[in-house]
Amino acid sequence: MRKSLIALLMGLIVSLPLSGTAAASGSARPVPSGKAALTKNPIYTTGEFDFTECKELDRRPDDVDSYKIYLDHLMDCLNLSWGEEFKQAGLPFAKPKVRFITSAVKTGCGKYPAPYAAGVYCPVDKTMWILIYKNQLADPSEFELFQVIAHEYGHFVQDRVGILPAVDKITRKASKATYFAWSRRIELQAECFSGAFIGSVWHSLGRDQFDWDDLLDMKYGDVLHGKAKSIRYWLKRGWNGNGPGVCNTFTAPASKVA
Ligand SMILES: [Zn+2]
Repeated sequence: MRKSLIALLMGLIVSLPLSGTAAASGSARPVPSGKAALTKNPIYTTGEFDFTECKELDRRPDDVDSYKIYLDHLMDCLNLSWGEEFKQAGLPFAKPKVRFITSAVKTGCGKYPAPYAAGVYCPVDKTMWILIYKNQLADPSEFELFQVIAHEYGHFVQDRVGILPAVDKITRKASKATYFAWSRRIELQAECFSGAFIGSVWHSLGRDQFDWDDLLDMKYGDVLHGKAKSIRYWLKRGWNGNGPGVCNTFTAPASKVA
């Protein structure tokens, strides 16, 4: 049962199967565990992001190197933004590893790319695996990659603050239906975290309403990520501001995480 769930998870944007425990360091408080990690996590108390500037660098069509530079810069923004949030929450922070790829690889969580996975955060190797698709390479103005990375970074945050390990423990012997319900809370929170980051730097991106509307329009749902309506709700909720605290999907009613 466990094995088949893991196999199923390989196709997910996040894979939960193995616990990743953040190492405590310095004077930071211990990473919370159990139900408290989900519902009362210190990361919810930090308020607005302080770091609000993130220029998008230029990319050239079909020039992988220019894409990697663009994405590395975005990672710098995310590390600064979230690093500050961790500091305010009193939680230990370390940057994630990230690999930008253009063809299939074997990750610590299995083969990637996998169906329905625009990116993967693997708690086993603590690495974000991001595939740059051909159609994205052809269009240097696309905005999807930006959001995919912000979403996968959201999973990394969940791992570091004790959320992924807590859900992993809870769902270890759960039925599929129960597992899916937890998966949706995780995925919708990562969506909300991505929205919170994007909203905080939006004014510095030089993007307009169409880019945001396009992004929302592209969303479609499934049983593991939630209905399109739920995805849009959490993405917008994060984008509207007030920081990661608005992204507590673990106290949300079931109707909001359907
Ligand atoms: Zn995800």
